[in-house]
Amino acid sequence: MRIVFIGPPGAGKGTQAERLIAKYQLAHLSTGDMLRAARDARTSVGKKADEYMSKGELVPDDIIIGIIDERLAEPDCQKGYLLDGFPRTIAQAEALDRLLAEKKTPLDVVLELRVPEEELFQRLAGRGRADDRPEVIRQRLVAYRRQTEPLLEYYGAKGILKSVDGLGTVDEIFDRVVDVLG
Ligand code: ADP
Repeated sequence: MRIVFIGPPGAGKGTQAERLIAKYQLAHLSTGDMLRAARDARTSVGKKADEYMSKGELVPDDIIIGIIDERLAEPDCQKGYLLDGFPRTIAQAEALDRLLAEKKTPLDVVLELRVPEEELFQRLAGRGRADDRPEVIRQRLVAYRRQTEPLLEYYGAKGILKSVDGLGTVDEIFDRVVDVLG
């Protein structure tokens, strides 16, 4: 199964992703985790990415697409993966489509985790990551609304979008997710 997981910051994607990859034996491709690892290792990509991450802005598409292109070629991705935090812009979605068309491995489903914005701010403010300062959180939510939300229409038009209510307990939400994946 090849899945894209979309949701605003604070929606609980990370928690649900952990369960999903265990249940369906998927490779977990979190661009946020990859970028934080690159930043902490002080690679050139990591240093560049941090200039954007620390402000709550999206890292430029070419950097992200390069990272994903390399990662998708690795052996563990051949039997299925969960893309978590990518694509986040229409340009990234189009680049992914081109890449997957070349490999003849189209996406199976795009899963959206829906959570109202008031709730997101509360959750993020309580978390304490380096980019969880209030002004940075606000910017990440703005980036989601402006740059990532248009993907819902993009994938909706392709008929592969499934939306799940992200309010409730972790178990309740996971049951919904498993339900829509069928
Ligand atoms: P969250 O969804 O909670 O904001 P992530 O861990 O997914 O957090 O991402 C953290 C930061 O990493 C983002 O704010 C952004 O700067 C950068 N990032 C992650 N994925 C992408 C992407 N696909 N495109 C651009 N920037 C990204």
